[in-house]
Amino acid sequence: MAAALTSARQGRLYPAVILDGGDAEARRQAALELARTLLCEVSPAARPCGVCRHCRRIVWPGAGEGETAFHPDFQVLERDLKASTSVDATRELLKTAQVSPFEARGQVFVIASAESLTGEAANALLKNLEEPHVSAPRHFLLLAPSRLDLLPTLRSRSLAVFLGAAVPVDAATVEPLARSFTAAAAAYAGSGAPIYLLGAASALAAAGGWEDPRSSRPWALAAAAVLRSLELEPGPAMMTARRARLALAEALLESPALRLRGIAADRILEGLVARHLA
Ligand SMILES: [Zn+2]
Repeated sequence: MAAALTSARQGRLYPAVILDGGDAEARRQAALELARTLLCEVSPAARPCGVCRHCRRIVWPGAGEGETAFHPDFQVLERDLKASTSVDATRELLKTAQVSPFEARGQVFVIASAESLTGEAANALLKNLEEPHVSAPRHFLLLAPSRLDLLPTLRSRSLAVFLGAAVPVDAATVEPLARSFTAAAAAYAGSGAPIYLLGAASALAAAGGWEDPRSSRPWALAAAAVLRSLELEPGPAMMTARRARLALAEALLESPALRLRGIAADRILEGLVARHLA
């Protein structure tokens, strides 16, 4: 992020920047800071100043700053359909990108959930990136949980800025989960008795915090415990199990979506452990 801000101050920032990782709020804050740096009117080294007529009006829409907090050269596109950002809304945004800036020296467009762009919308954006504006700098900031959720063609034309892990997990919390998971998984590998698969699932369930179906923290802790188990149990036998463990860790990280369908967390854990270790 620091490197991206420096490039923005020097007027060398890529036209398209992916801001991924972190949580949604971290991505919004990073987008605002970059936008202010790009449009701020003080001397480059001091950007963003935070107080000029541009900086003050670059706020997230609906952030409660009142009607004065609007900048005509800063636009945010949020998903308009239930699960996607439509081609119509994207084209509407791109139309503004065809005209010259109203007040600032450039324009900044934020796509708040770039992972939700429909294929058609992403292609409309790509076409725009390939035909750069001549009169003024124009930047697209694409916000997404992971850059891997974006089309490869879009990724290859963008600078990606990773904002850090979505859920920080600390080693001290992960270690006991990893140890009991490793013991249960090793016992299963040795005996084949399904009771140990249940034991492995319970070891992960000990991460706690499953009551909130939207929280990704327990899933991230469980996945970290599975990854740690790879280090706790070296040796040739582990090498064959490695692929299954990695697949389990990946499935755990994607599980909050399953949970939203109303399935209890412990059932999901048992199912995933059985599917990947059995
Ligand atoms: Zn400023």
